[in-house]
Amino acid sequence: MPGRIPQSFINDLIAKIDIVDVVGERVDLKKEGKNYNGLCPFHNEKTPSFTVSPDKQFFHCFGCQESGTAIGFVMLHDRLTFVEAIESLAASVGMSVPREAGSSRQEISANNKSIEAIAKAVDFYKQQLRISTAAKKYLQGRGITGELARDYQLGYAPSGWQTLENGLEGVGLEALVDAGLVSEGKNKKHYDRFRNRVVFPIRNVKGQTIGFGGRSIGDDDGPKYLNSPETELFKKGEELYGLYEARKSNSRLHKIIVVEGYMDVLSLAQSGLTNVVATLGTATNETHFYKLFKYTDEVVLCFDGDGAGRQAGWKALERALPALSDQKQIKLIFVPEGEDPDTLVRKKGAEHFNQQIKNAISGLDYLLEQLSSPLNLESLDDRAKFYGLCQPYIDKMKAGILRDLFKQKIDQIVGLREQTKQAPRPKRSFSEGPKVSRLEAKLCGYLLKYPDLWSQLDESFGEKELLLINRCELLSAPVKQLQKHSTLESEELLVRLMDEPAYDYFCSLLNKPVEIGIEEMEIEFREGLKRLTLKLKEKEELSSSDKLSEVASISDLKRFVSLKKNEISKL
Ligand SMILES: [Zn+2]
Repeated sequence: MPGRIPQSFINDLIAKIDIVDVVGERVDLKKEGKNYNGLCPFHNEKTPSFTVSPDKQFFHCFGCQESGTAIGFVMLHDRLTFVEAIESLAASVGMSVPREAGSSRQEISANNKSIEAIAKAVDFYKQQLRISTAAKKYLQGRGITGELARDYQLGYAPSGWQTLENGLEGVGLEALVDAGLVSEGKNKKHYDRFRNRVVFPIRNVKGQTIGFGGRSIGDDDGPKYLNSPETELFKKGEELYGLYEARKSNSRLHKIIVVEGYMDVLSLAQSGLTNVVATLGTATNETHFYKLFKYTDEVVLCFDGDGAGRQAGWKALERALPALSDQKQIKLIFVPEGEDPDTLVRKKGAEHFNQQIKNAISGLDYLLEQLSSPLNLESLDDRAKFYGLCQPYIDKMKAGILRDLFKQKIDQIVGLREQTKQAPRPKRSFSEGPKVSRLEAKLCGYLLKYPDLWSQLDESFGEKELLLINRCELLSAPVKQLQKHSTLESEELLVRLMDEPAYDYFCSLLNKPVEIGIEEMEIEFREGLKRLTLKLKEKEELSSSDKLSEVASISDLKRFVSLKKNEISKL
């Protein structure tokens, strides 16, 4: 556990920051009299009722009654914890947060050293950009203005092996290595990781730079793009390039667009789309989604239209499912083959790109489309297969309205009748169904509700018993399906029974409320099945003995006839 932040530091910080700057970075404020007014970021309004007082260092909204200090504002607005808010505010005024003695004090001070080293490197690289014609030319060629370069703190790492180390005064080699800025090669020689590259500082949500991406602008400098290595501070799989900047330039993020590259983020920002982030050379994962959904309700994933892009889209979609809810949704767009968001927006403009975003396909619709496209949903078998394919994706989703709606949609596609979904229906009397015993109907109802009951039967239920059940008018149909497909969910089993004459009756059985628990049901099912097969056996034996007695009476008759014949012949 990190140690506490000393109160004296918090006091210093509060003294150093100005709430007007802090709020002003996130909300458009206008000075009116002594105070500053603007539209409240915490509730929807058209006329300003949100006011910031520089004298009291306090904000207050007359609409929703939200109020507090700069720290409280950052916590609410940026959705940060108290400690995160302190760290964010400290970073904005160039202070690093000290901690009181804690168990991982060493780790914290190492991290603080890395953050300081990286902050100094950011300044160094920015300075180098100002004097590098090649780097400036490269950025201009990509349509990046000086203003945007400043907002995103773009820089240039010069050629040479020890330029950074030599250029940064007072930063130890160890801190540079820990920060991933200097690498250690063979023979313990040290060299700059980024050489002759335009560098893109990657900031965490608190605004601290924790790593870099670097784009080579020479011909022979290794890979086109290079990231900082994984460090204590920088976890590639958790960070998103541009998230800090997106939150800074939008008081409310209605949606966040996720792209693949740094240049995509910058090009779109240059075109006025400031709600764009990029993953750092990794696929979008669950952590990313949870992080994004902290700040927005809609995530639009942007992929290449080629095979690899579609595959990446599919994978991302699978990973997003657990994070989705009624409030949190994802959409997908695929840019035309051979293009990426950067080239597309520069060729066709922001309006065109915005239209693409508006037309994005809902992630869940895409999922259904992809699952069903290889199937022929006219065929019963494929419909059942489709149902089975959807099941694992349903299982990944959180319980809630979205999942219910998704299930409903699948039911509609499969053609499951509405009646099977609506609980109490007018009770059918048994006489309306096939002529089956109450016991068989009950067992059938259990089995339709919990098909697993079938696989749980032990060896006391053998071939002979199965033969008997397979002759039952009602139970035989679901049992035959379960013998073919051992792991069917209740609804998939029902889909497979759609062509059975007793389908309606199956639906009514499924809708019948069961008042006992699953464990009791298991016992009742097992015992009931025993009783049923016993009855069937008895019936069978009885009917064969009936036939025997019939045969006996015929032979009696024959004997009688032959006796009579003899008697007659004797006459
Ligand atoms: Zn308000």
